[in-house]
Amino acid sequence: MVGAGPVGLVSALALARQGIPVVVLEAEAALTHDLRAGTFHPPTLEMMAPLGITERLLAIGIKVPHWQIRDRHAGVIAQFDLGVLANDTPYPYRLHCEQHKLTPIARDLLMALPGTAIRFGCRLVDATQSSGGAVATVETAAGPERIAGSYLIGADGGRSVVRNAIGVEFEGFTWPERILVVSTTYDLEPHGFTHNAYVADPDEWVALFKMPHHGPPGIWRLAFPTDTAIAEETVLSDDFVAARMQGFLPRREPYDILYRSTYRVHQRVAKTFRVGRILLAGDAAHVNNPLGAMGLNSGIHDAVNLAAALGAVWHGAPDDRLDRYDRQRRQINVDYVQAITIHNKRLLEERDPTVRAQRLDEVRRTAADPTLAYDFLLKSSMIASVRQANAIA
Ligand SMILES: Cc1cc2nc3c(=O)[nH]c(=O)nc-3n(C[C@H](O)[C@H](O)[C@H](O)COP(=O)(O)OP(=O)(O)OC[C@H]3O[C@@H](n4cnc5c(N)ncnc54)[C@H](O)[C@@H]3O)c2cc1C
Repeated sequence: MVGAGPVGLVSALALARQGIPVVVLEAEAALTHDLRAGTFHPPTLEMMAPLGITERLLAIGIKVPHWQIRDRHAGVIAQFDLGVLANDTPYPYRLHCEQHKLTPIARDLLMALPGTAIRFGCRLVDATQSSGGAVATVETAAGPERIAGSYLIGADGGRSVVRNAIGVEFEGFTWPERILVVSTTYDLEPHGFTHNAYVADPDEWVALFKMPHHGPPGIWRLAFPTDTAIAEETVLSDDFVAARMQGFLPRREPYDILYRSTYRVHQRVAKTFRVGRILLAGDAAHVNNPLGAMGLNSGIHDAVNLAAALGAVWHGAPDDRLDRYDRQRRQINVDYVQAITIHNKRLLEERDPTVRAQRLDEVRRTAADPTLAYDFLLKSSMIASVRQANAIA
């Protein structure tokens, strides 16, 4: 396994629980702690429950049963209640909890199992294979090393060295803007925001998330698009961040800012998730914008699907069982994750007033009609994506 991010660790744990020996190779000296994804959808919680992760996340996360789509000037366009999915999932809510809280949980559960190891400071530089196995060439403080195994999984993120080593194209595009993420202790709930809300605006959409922070009352994380022509250090400066916050919700006092960071977003899917004994999962296989919170979730869906396929092969099933992993997860990523996240972003940023009004009206109609709202929630909670993937032979 290459990469001790959430996808690598969850895959490794799911493999180890089937009695399969696994070594995780991680370039960094420790688990990364930067601010990234923070929303878990119901099927992801279902998949991680048998691994022992979900109960631990529930103890530290914030349950978010309601979320809104808003317009910056018109206010609430629609409010959705995941409670209507109570017959479809034991977890009818989104769970907010940063991914850097998932990785130590997965690491500890993994290390408690026999036949497992995580090697930090071990950077993969090449991956090769033969009919009998795969070989990782790594750089370590002690020099280069070759590590052999039966299969190799590239869960090494969007810039995957594994994907490049097997020559798999990463098809798609990069969005023109940079996203600025800001966290504040100021409570937005009294202003009518649900703990997750997406605010449409042709000049500056905003996505809001209430996140746990050393217990209650939590903090609010806001994501804004910013122009890449503005230098990153300017975007991260106190004045720029304060202006974005005051522009969004003006108040007399300054905002207390705990964290700020920026990142670029892409919509890309690897041409295949499998080349022989080398497989791709998570961001190494697909990346998308964060609107709808499908990146990390779909990566964990890959992890659990792949571990089941590899477990079956390890225990005697024909090798082509792994092709089904590629068919199911790649197809769902293209048809569903890419399509929905692109649609979500276009909804929030649409500039044409007529198209914009039509799209927001459609959202209102969907929320007002119980059947349409239920179908919409099955899709936006990713329950439909898992059902659709399972239906692919
Ligand atoms: C800055 C940033 C902010 C984000 N914010 C959000 C967000 O707000 N909402 C959202 O939904 N999604 C967000 N995402 C996306 C989300 O974080 C990813 O979908 C998720 O991290 C994917 O997990 P992963 O395990 O596949 O990859 P990663 O988390 O990237 O983990 C890959 C691991 O592989 C290691 N690695 C890389 N190369 C090598 C190598 N050559 N050898 C060994 N190890 C290697 C890395 O050090 C890392 O530990 C963000 C992504 C980034 C980069």
